[in-house]
Amino acid sequence: MIYLDYAANTPIDKEVLDYYYEISQKYYGNPNSVHKIGRAAKEIIDKATENIAKNFGVSKEEIIYTSGATESNNMVIKGICERYKNNGKHIIVSSLEHNSIIASATVMQDKGFDVDLVPVNKEGLIDIEELKKLIRKDTILVSIVSVDSEIGLVQPIEEIAKFLRDYPNIHFHTDATQAVGKVKIDYSDVDLITFSPHKFYGVNGIGVLIKKKNTNLIPIISGGKSTTVYRSGTPVTPLIASVDKALDIALTNQENRYNYVLELNKRIINHLKKYDYIHINNTDKSIPFTINFSIRGIHSKDFAKMLEEKDIYISTKTSCCPENTPSKLVYALTKDKSLAATSLRVSLSHLTTNEEINSFLNTFDECIEELKKDGKI
Ligand code: PMP
Repeated sequence: MIYLDYAANTPIDKEVLDYYYEISQKYYGNPNSVHKIGRAAKEIIDKATENIAKNFGVSKEEIIYTSGATESNNMVIKGICERYKNNGKHIIVSSLEHNSIIASATVMQDKGFDVDLVPVNKEGLIDIEELKKLIRKDTILVSIVSVDSEIGLVQPIEEIAKFLRDYPNIHFHTDATQAVGKVKIDYSDVDLITFSPHKFYGVNGIGVLIKKKNTNLIPIISGGKSTTVYRSGTPVTPLIASVDKALDIALTNQENRYNYVLELNKRIINHLKKYDYIHINNTDKSIPFTINFSIRGIHSKDFAKMLEEKDIYISTKTSCCPENTPSKLVYALTKDKSLAATSLRVSLSHLTTNEEINSFLNTFDECIEELKKDGKI
């Protein structure tokens, strides 16, 4: 079995899982309970939250735990719109956003908000001049993904954040789900940041929203006390502790992992380039972890299925999108419907071996030969 879909989910690091187990065995008290057992769990949460906060240069009060990046993104779009609707009803999101941003923005559109999509240029980057054109007096939120889930384009988040400083009514959010643990971005001027640790070898079922002090929002989940007033529910001590552990491991090894994956990426790209009917959708602004290409004339789903039959697992696009629809992100970049209908995503990890890449490339060639024999290419 060769798994090349690490952008969708990663296996839990054993160290993180062991830590999760240890914390759940030792600190099972409800952290909201005032007795000693509860206080001990709360202490673990506080320590973990302080460490996570330190990694992002924020204070522990600015960290909110959710069930995943989808919930964090919903909270940002819906919560900011509700909180600041008296300042304006216009929001801007990029054309490379994950469905959890687009769908939340659509909900707000149905409630009377105006939503604009900011396009990307040929390199796949948000053009600040285009963003400037869309900004209105009643704009309250701009949301730009740090690294998108399909083409892995790294957006100029620092530059956009600095530019938006001149607009005090606008809150700036970035979805950093595909960025954390892969690429260094300075988030100091960003008001809201979302991510989830299952993308960097952490546990599934928890997400993070960093909400800076200068920004407020209306919670979407109401109830009892939690780590903050913004998201109710009993805080899950081992999940929170494991975010800290996974983040620590990911950030410590980030540079080595990046450089290792870069070499694997070069091997695959060089191989794909020998086929003139294959179009590489990545630009030089993509992270090496995410390879996106289209085989002209071959529907993504069909090729992914051929590989699956040979025990190789890649993705057609982000796993949260409906099957059989073209990739919106590849279309946003290339403006080419056929490329969007035939795009494939191979996502790599420091766990991917050179032997796996050898097998993948051999099998890939075999599949292409089969298609040729059948007269499909
Ligand atoms: N944003 C991006 C960019 C993602 O890639 C994903 C996961 N595919 C999400 C948000 C949603 O994350 P989660 O699975 O934690 O809800």
